[in-house]
Amino acid sequence: MPAFTIGSADVVPNSLAEENVARSGKAAARIRSARAALLDCRLCAHLCGVNRLAGRAGLCHADQYARVFQAQVEVSDELRLTPTLAIALSGCDLRCSFCITGQESWNPQAGRPADIRELASTAKRALAGGARSIMILGGEPTLHLPTVLELVAALPDEATLVWKTNGHGTRQARVLLAGLFDVWVIDYKFGNDQCASRLARVSNYTAVVRENLVWAHANAELVVRHLVMPGHLDCCWRPVAEWLAERMPNVRVNLRTGFWPAWQSHRHPELRGTVTAADAAEAVRHARSLGLKLID
Ligand code: SF4
Repeated sequence: MPAFTIGSADVVPNSLAEENVARSGKAAARIRSARAALLDCRLCAHLCGVNRLAGRAGLCHADQYARVFQAQVEVSDELRLTPTLAIALSGCDLRCSFCITGQESWNPQAGRPADIRELASTAKRALAGGARSIMILGGEPTLHLPTVLELVAALPDEATLVWKTNGHGTRQARVLLAGLFDVWVIDYKFGNDQCASRLARVSNYTAVVRENLVWAHANAELVVRHLVMPGHLDCCWRPVAEWLAERMPNVRVNLRTGFWPAWQSHRHPELRGTVTAADAAEAVRHARSLGLKLID
């Protein structure tokens, strides 16, 4: 029996019903609820309210079927979690001009249909071959929660699962995800709503991402990422760093300074180059002065 009542953003799990249930069992019990959520999709804070089961599209353009544009072992993530099998689902609810995987991330029709059995066997092979974790990312995987839950239900309960997200999900999405992922990696991209709106076409960004950060910090192991953008040290990185130092001083922070002017960066004059060595050094210096725990 599903452990959720569907019909509003206030989907609340019956935690008693889930007590002592293995992770795969919890995920399986939520699949029907996650599919029902697509009838009136509010999985992310755009709150489109469209019926994706009937083929209506919201701002992300995703229908009910998830596709995969990459499933490969990677070693470029956080050391403790790598090698990781990174499973990237197509489509995203944000429109970051500088997206490094722009075409696949923006287009939910990119890649091939998500085949749960095939992905689960790939994951089991990767784990047997030495992978330390399975990372589910996008695009933005929150768009595809029914498929995500099917996949988690098919993965070994003892595997370390990592959820990599833009932190733009709603409470409804978080409730469906609660207790399934060991580590949440959240990209905290912008330090203010104006930059978020101009560079990623999203409103009310700060409040939403902070709500997700606070929740993830309380409910899982959290890693926060920030990609320093050229010309955005003062308006984006400093406010992000200062909020993290004040609200979650012990969180691990992956500060990235290797900005590359990919995809539609050319639309914004300041994003047409890379981050200068001086700005990269200043970003790190500022983090250290605040006592942030930087990780590779
Ligand atoms: S996932 Fe977000 S952008 Fe996509 S339809 Fe649902 S609410 Fe809209």
